[in-house]
Amino acid sequence: MGLKIKKSMLTKIIGEEKVQKVKKYIEKGERFVIVSHVSPDGDSLGSSLGLYHFLTTYGKENITVIVPNEFPEYYKWMPGSKDILIYDKYPEFAEELILKADVIFCLDFNEPKRLEKLAPVVLAAEGRKVMVDHHLHPGDFCKVTISQSEMSSTAELIFRLICQMGMFDILNQEGAACIYTGMMTDTGAFTYNSNQPEVYIVISELLKKGINKDLIYQKVNQAYSESRFRLMGYVLLEKMKIYPEYKTSLITLTTKELNNFGYKTGDTEGFVNLLLNIDGVDFSVFIRQDKEYTKISFRSVGDFPSNQFAAAYFNGGGHKNASGGEYYGSIEDALNVFEEGLKEFNPNNY
Ligand code: 5GP
Ligand code: MN
Repeated sequence: MGLKIKKSMLTKIIGEEKVQKVKKYIEKGERFVIVSHVSPDGDSLGSSLGLYHFLTTYGKENITVIVPNEFPEYYKWMPGSKDILIYDKYPEFAEELILKADVIFCLDFNEPKRLEKLAPVVLAAEGRKVMVDHHLHPGDFCKVTISQSEMSSTAELIFRLICQMGMFDILNQEGAACIYTGMMTDTGAFTYNSNQPEVYIVISELLKKGINKDLIYQKVNQAYSESRFRLMGYVLLEKMKIYPEYKTSLITLTTKELNNFGYKTGDTEGFVNLLLNIDGVDFSVFIRQDKEYTKISFRSVGDFPSNQFAAAYFNGGGHKNASGGEYYGSIEDALNVFEEGLKEFNPNNY
């Protein structure tokens, strides 16, 4: 009964032919690998673990979630997160699993380069590749490409894929919690990119699986370490720059500053979003010195295409309102490139 109502309410947005292909791969496959992008976030982890739990409950025994590098502490409560294989730590083992897999799910990224060092391994692998993603411009490297940029998150798309395969009943509470986490984190707890009414039908179905959405919010967003919280204070007080004439705000952080606050992966997550809380700021930027390059994150509100800015100056991309890129050079040089770009892409013109 419940299944009937749900089916009638959720639009079948994924092409039926693709759904049937994926279903067949799942039925026939024995060894599964799920990969997602570098610097894993709530959606890459949530969609991957959601699918992992689904496949496990379906009866598959050989499934590994592989991510390129370490992920934040505040996602380590997620069921199945302890079994995630981090390529940086065990490259040979990860390579072996990828090369032997019958099916490789590529979640929450549109181009192999988003896997960084893992990209050549995935490209070389012969297993059937299935992309499930919500970024624009999907690359052509998968046998099945499910790319829907209007979705709140890849996690939502995984939920829809499961439903369209007619296997909603197989999704358990653990999987539902992971899917919810992906949807919640990619929408800033449903404060952006979440105006599609069906988002709330999906949430309703996940709640029926017994998830505690309030607890999930707490675990992800109310779990700052003291040093992370102090770093946030430092950034806002000492490091924030505002360009009122461009409706833009910026922060930068060097490795030294990060180390002063005992930086751990994920500690600066969300900083770039904070700047949009300022009245009159429509474009925000965070420039951070990383090990191998300078990482740039962009956020915008309204029509300013931050992803085009990222693509034009920082070899990056992403969504209109949330994007990023990288720069091989110092923070100072990155800042100069950015300021030049701001003159070209003046947010006042959008
Ligand atoms: P974040 O700022 O949280 O690292 O990234 C926000 C979004 O921007 C990601 O979900 C992803 O879509 C995109 N993004 C971030 N960094 C890059 C990058 O280096 N290249 C591309 N193509 N997209 C990126
Ligand atoms: Mn995503």
